[in-house]
Amino acid sequence: MLTGFKTLVRKATSLFTSPEDQSYPIVIPRNNHSLSRQNLSPNAVKVLYRLNKAGYDAYLVGGCIRDHLIGAKTKDFDVVTNATPEEVHATFSNSRLIGRRFRLVHVTFGREIIEVSTFRANSAQDDNDSVHKGQTSLKGKDSARSTHGMLLRDNVYGSIEEDAERRDFTFNALYYNVQDFSIHDYCGGLKDIENKVIRIIGDPRKRYQEDPVRMLRAIRFAGKLGFEIDPSTAAPIKEMAHLLDHIPPARLFEEVLKLMGSGNGIKTFELLREYGLFRYLFPDTEALLKSGWKRDDINPEAFILQGLRNTDNRIQSGKTTAPYFLYAVLLWPSVALRHEEFLAQGMPATPALHQAASMVLDNQVASTAIPRRFSTPMREIWDMQFRLPKRYGKRAFLLLEHPRFRAGFDFLLIREASGTELGGLGDWWEAFQHATEAQQRDLIKSIDARASDNKDGPKKRRPRRRKSNSNNAASSDIKNNAPSSTNK
Ligand code: ATP
Ligand code: MG
Repeated sequence: MLTGFKTLVRKATSLFTSPEDQSYPIVIPRNNHSLSRQNLSPNAVKVLYRLNKAGYDAYLVGGCIRDHLIGAKTKDFDVVTNATPEEVHATFSNSRLIGRRFRLVHVTFGREIIEVSTFRANSAQDDNDSVHKGQTSLKGKDSARSTHGMLLRDNVYGSIEEDAERRDFTFNALYYNVQDFSIHDYCGGLKDIENKVIRIIGDPRKRYQEDPVRMLRAIRFAGKLGFEIDPSTAAPIKEMAHLLDHIPPARLFEEVLKLMGSGNGIKTFELLREYGLFRYLFPDTEALLKSGWKRDDINPEAFILQGLRNTDNRIQSGKTTAPYFLYAVLLWPSVALRHEEFLAQGMPATPALHQAASMVLDNQVASTAIPRRFSTPMREIWDMQFRLPKRYGKRAFLLLEHPRFRAGFDFLLIREASGTELGGLGDWWEAFQHATEAQQRDLIKSIDARASDNKDGPKKRRPRRRKSNSNNAASSDIKNNAPSSTNK
């Protein structure tokens, strides 16, 4: 990825001297780097020019500059300016003010949103240190902290230097000035990119205390970019991981989506566990992995790694991924365990599955929120694992029409690939999906023919049960076809 870095940033005077000798910002003029308007979203450029025209300073900052210099694809463009959010809002009719903790403006162009924030002063020190010059401080109203030192609101505006200091990592404090096309490096980010280092700006402990999500961001960039976390940036993470308990579940949910959607999910998952952060995101899953619990038909760690591998491959080959799918993967081992427990209590299999799913989801939302648009398809995917083995009669045709068929089928393939023996079920469904109608009937017949042995066929008519017992039929169906044998 970094091979082209030297050609991307050339001849930067005194760029790589020691930090003590360095005076910031380092300014890289247009001819000495390869970032140009062609690499940028035309809408982001429009926003920059419009703000400049209205008399404000405006820069591109953060991920888009970092990713370009690394040679990675950029997905969003963040603009920063000395105009207040209200002033930005007044400049763009196609904009809206958002956020409370961190007030900013979204300027919308069709489906693209350009996020515009105002230079922040580092209100980190407002408890004891100096009041920064130029900040429009309304302490208590614009900046607030929790008893744990967490920044609850961060709306104290300041200069570009102050803005750079309160950003998270050095490589995220690079600014692109569209007026002269120069890049401004305020904290040594260019050098860290060259050395592939993730380095937090300022005192790591203070910075994690202010915002514990920065620990997750360090891991995210390590996973995504393959950079090393600088030892002093890494050192306090394990010990401070528990601070994630104070982060609202909705924010952690957003973070998990970014963590797992980076295309390097396996590495990220392993780093999260290594640094003791994963348990604050998925406590049940971590407990289960730690306990070493396994069954003949499920090896939790192998299954999760297979699910992540599958998602990584999809992302890397430009295919879409549904984030709820990964959530379903990460929680499936816990569902399987709970299901087994409910069965052991004598609960019929279908209610046991639903109960297990509810229990796991209820526990999970205490850590990371899961909106209903996620939990419903997750339940459907889990449910599908018990339905896919039952293909006789019209069932296979009906299942194929199910909106969650594809996700359920992919999930099944991951189970098989991670070692669960399902008697060639994945291959059968693969063939069925691509067969003509006549071939499909033959495929169903081939199961019917074997049905008497493998219980995957039409049931013999049984005497009618009384209503109170009706669940038991479903129970025996699911037990016979379930992904579970109950031996530990
Ligand atoms: P990407 O968008 O590729 O995930 P990014 O670095 O652009 O990465 P964003 O969440 O879009 O991440 O944030 C934009 C910029 O805002 C960052 O580059 C960083 O400068 C700053 N930033 C984001 N989150 C924090 C934080 N928790 N603390 C300090 N600065 C932050
Ligand atoms: Mg970004």
